[in-house]
Amino acid sequence: MTDNKKAAPVGQLGTAQFQNSQNHFNNIDGKLSNFLAKLEGVKTNGSNKWLAKCPAHSDRSPSLAIKLADDRILIHCFAGCSVDAVLGAVGLDMAGLFPDRVANPGTPKPKAPRFSAYELFPLLIQEALILAIAFDAVVSGDVMADVDKQRATQAFNAVMRLNSEVRQ
Ligand SMILES: [Zn+2]
Repeated sequence: MTDNKKAAPVGQLGTAQFQNSQNHFNNIDGKLSNFLAKLEGVKTNGSNKWLAKCPAHSDRSPSLAIKLADDRILIHCFAGCSVDAVLGAVGLDMAGLFPDRVANPGTPKPKAPRFSAYELFPLLIQEALILAIAFDAVVSGDVMADVDKQRATQAFNAVMRLNSEVRQ
């Protein structure tokens, strides 16, 4: 006696949904690879997170944070470059951060995604450490090189601006 159990048929709707979600994922994945390929000094900084040299300013140490969050690409320059400036420097616009969607009249233009305070904390610590080193040099009466002064100023500006940059 044979047991002829048939596999449950895959419904048309189920198949369509699956293909849709695959395309959706591949689309943002491709945009992320495309964006990362345009940057210099890219290194991974955890799962789906990267640091790179910011293309919008003269960046010696990587100060551009990149994160893939669900269906969006988050970017943040710690020297204060706007998202538009960073994208413009590599020939992209805001659409490069979002998956393509079917045009929906009346949908507002997407705003630049923002990091949460939690996501920015490791980078805040990095900037704070640079300020601490600079402060120690000042207290000790050490002569600071111009590049170090500039980096400390950059760290100061980044810390001062964080409150307005973080998603509320
Ligand atoms: Zn920048």
